[in-house]
Amino acid sequence: MSAVWIENEVAPLEKDPKAGAKIERETHKLEKRLCRQVGQAIMDYNMIEEGDRVMVCVSGGKDSYGMLDILLKLQARAPINFELIAVNLDQKQPGFPDHILPEYLKKLGVPFHIETQDTYSIVKKVIPEGKTMCSLCSRLRRGILYRVADELKITKIALGHHRDDILQTFFLNMFFAGKLKGMPPKLVSDDGGHIVIRPLANVAEKDLTRWAAHREFPIIPCTLCGSQENLQRKQIGNMLREWEKQYPGRTETMFTSLQNVVPSHLMDLKRHNFKDIKVTGVPDEDGDKVFDEEEFPVASLPGLQVLKFPG
Ligand code: SF4
Repeated sequence: MSAVWIENEVAPLEKDPKAGAKIERETHKLEKRLCRQVGQAIMDYNMIEEGDRVMVCVSGGKDSYGMLDILLKLQARAPINFELIAVNLDQKQPGFPDHILPEYLKKLGVPFHIETQDTYSIVKKVIPEGKTMCSLCSRLRRGILYRVADELKITKIALGHHRDDILQTFFLNMFFAGKLKGMPPKLVSDDGGHIVIRPLANVAEKDLTRWAAHREFPIIPCTLCGSQENLQRKQIGNMLREWEKQYPGRTETMFTSLQNVVPSHLMDLKRHNFKDIKVTGVPDEDGDKVFDEEEFPVASLPGLQVLKFPG
């Protein structure tokens, strides 16, 4: 696939008389970074191909607004033709402002579909008061999205998970499920019938927050269902933020590690054939170093630069 995805210049933002030159420059840099990171993910994982009909799932949150916004910019300059169809599921949560998204999407001029399904009442009926409703709610939502994807002849389902969601999921799996498993940038859905993509996989949440503020997206609050927050996810989020505060750059380093997996240095019998290991007689940088401590290239591991050991 052509590098045009990431190489084209972004047109300068319109001049805002209220904004200072510095803010304008920063915003322009942010836009370039977002386009580059999304374009890179699309290229690296071959997320979008010629003729694709991409269902962009929009919830009314900053991440999905950002995803749609950046995908539209990339679509305009992409080396291939593909369609974007924004889809929102109105779950009939009390107080859901159902006019906001249709009005926004109409103004944007993007084809869209609003699917209205009262999953809220079902979940309320089935889950006892005070218990978390999220797992049933997401299961229902998933089924509906797959059906809608079939009806709209969708070839890829795009979700707005970003780098920090991926890292949180990685640590949730490690801490609470005993697995080294993150959130894939591209994978076949659990029903085997759809390809799910996460074009924001390389994007930091703080950049999406800044972009949402700059673009003044009409954010719909995500607390309308009244469900408890996932406390484990919240804990992990706090842990990652705290690490980043103490060791700036650590988030980026950890994220990079997800793309540099060395199965021979882990212990999973399914990923590496430990049982049949034989000497090769050929020196290998990645071979076992016996007692040697691993050396870490400090310059390329910004999260470790400020690590201080006592004594
Ligand atoms: S927070 Fe509410 S809408 Fe979101 S998955 Fe949980 S129950 Fe469903």
